[in-house]
Amino acid sequence: MARYRGSVCKLCRREKIKLFLKGERCFSPKCPVEKQAAVSKGRKQVRIRTRTRLSEYGMQLKEKQRARLMTGVLEKQFRKYFRKAEREKGLPGENLLRLLECRLDNIVFRLGFASSRNQARQLVRHRHTRVNGRCVDIPSYQVRVGDRISLDEKSKQLEIVKVAQEKAKERGLPAWIEFDQSTSTGRILELPKREEISIPVQEQLIVELYSK
Ligand code: SF4
Repeated sequence: MARYRGSVCKLCRREKIKLFLKGERCFSPKCPVEKQAAVSKGRKQVRIRTRTRLSEYGMQLKEKQRARLMTGVLEKQFRKYFRKAEREKGLPGENLLRLLECRLDNIVFRLGFASSRNQARQLVRHRHTRVNGRCVDIPSYQVRVGDRISLDEKSKQLEIVKVAQEKAKERGLPAWIEFDQSTSTGRILELPKREEISIPVQEQLIVELYSK
């Protein structure tokens, strides 16, 4: 996570959703959010908690923050994504999420080359990734339909990559990405539809926030 000190799990607890910031731990029962859910399920509710209701602005801000934290995009860049999403055809909210989902670091994570988006970003920055056979070291690079994403031959032997790939097999791939096991190469079959995007936020709230 960029520019955050302390356990990133605190961010998930604060946001009350899994932001998947800690690699394999996020997919295991060791995840504090999972543990908390299990405890709350088994425990009888003995006291009524009074909750402060967030204002409309607060909810919009929270939704934007969730999307930013999950994708590791800084505020300035996030705003740029929104402006770009607005200029594209279709719904700005969906366009925004699609732009975030099609970042190279996210694709590297989705393909299972890395256990988290943060780790994927490191792989890209350290020149381990290839797009159509050429080295691309820009995490924000937007993949296009037909792009082939792979790792450098030596990088495929990295222990972190092997572990991530093994674990990723259990999670599977979205329908818009194809993965060829024999060459360890992913191919973008089409751009993702809203329901295929793994960023669980209410994008309309983000649109409202930036449209003020
Ligand atoms: Fe920690 Fe990952 Fe669970 Fe978030 S999802 S609480 S980062 S283990």
